[in-house]
Amino acid sequence: MVREGMLLVLSAPSGCGKTTILKRVMAGLPGLVFSVSHTTRPPRPGEQDGRDYHFVDRAAFVAIRDRQPSGFLEWAEVHGNLYGTSREEVSRLRAQGLDVVLDIDVQGAARVRRDWDPVTVFIAPPSLAELERRLRGRGTEAEETIALRLANARREMAAADDYQYLVVNDDLDVAVDALRAIIVAERCRRRRMPSGETVELRL
Ligand code: ADP
Ligand code: 5GP
Repeated sequence: MVREGMLLVLSAPSGCGKTTILKRVMAGLPGLVFSVSHTTRPPRPGEQDGRDYHFVDRAAFVAIRDRQPSGFLEWAEVHGNLYGTSREEVSRLRAQGLDVVLDIDVQGAARVRRDWDPVTVFIAPPSLAELERRLRGRGTEAEETIALRLANARREMAAADDYQYLVVNDDLDVAVDALRAIIVAERCRRRRMPSGETVELRL
C-alpha cells in the first residue's frame, strides 16, 4: 500500500522570496509537488494558467467554493483577490504518496491546521525594508498593490509564532538548505513510517 503523502503549508509575506526558495527546493527533492491554487487575481507576466495558478473569474471561483462539499479544502480573500486550494487535487496527489506543498496565506494556514495535520513553515524577510526592496525589485506590482502588500506583511508577520518552523530568507542558499532539511527530517519521522516497518539494530 502506498503511504499517504504529507501536507506542507508554506506562508510568507508577499515578496519575501517564497517562490524562489520553493522552486529550488522542488528541483532537488523528488516526491514533492506543488498544489496549484485557483485565484481571481490576473496572471503576472510569465505566469502560466494551470502551472502557477488556475486563473478563474469570480463567478467560477464562487461556484467551486459553494459546492457541497466545497471544492476547496480552504479558501481566503488575500490582497482583494480570492484564492483557494482544490480538495480533489490535494487528495489525489497525497494518495499517490506525494508530499504536497500548499503555498497559502496565514488565514488559509489556520484552517488547514485546524482540520488536517500539516507541517507548517513560515518564511520571513530579514526586515520590512528589505521586503519592500524585493517587492519593488520584482517589478510585477503597481504602486498601490505594493502598499497593500506591505501593510498586510505586518499583519502576517504577527502570525509567524503559530508555525512549527521559521526560515529567515536573508541568504538564499541558507534558506533553501533550511527548507530542504525540514522536509527531509519530517519524512524521517517514525510516525510516518508504515506500521510494522521496523529497523533492525545490530549492536
Ligand atoms: P514571493 O513568492 O514570496 O512573493 P519571490 O520569490 O517572487 O517572492 O521573490 C521576490 C523577489 O525577491 C524576487 O525578485 C527574487 O528574485 C528576490 N529574492 C528572493 N530571495 C532573495 C534573497 N535571499 N536575497 C535577495 N533577493 C531575493
Ligand atoms: P500572490 O498573488 O503573490 O501569488 O499570492 C498572494 C498570497 O496568496 C500569498 O500569501 C499566497 O501564499 C496566498 N495564496 C496563494 N494561493 C492560495 C490559496 O489557495 N489559499 C490561500 N488561503 N492563500 C493562497
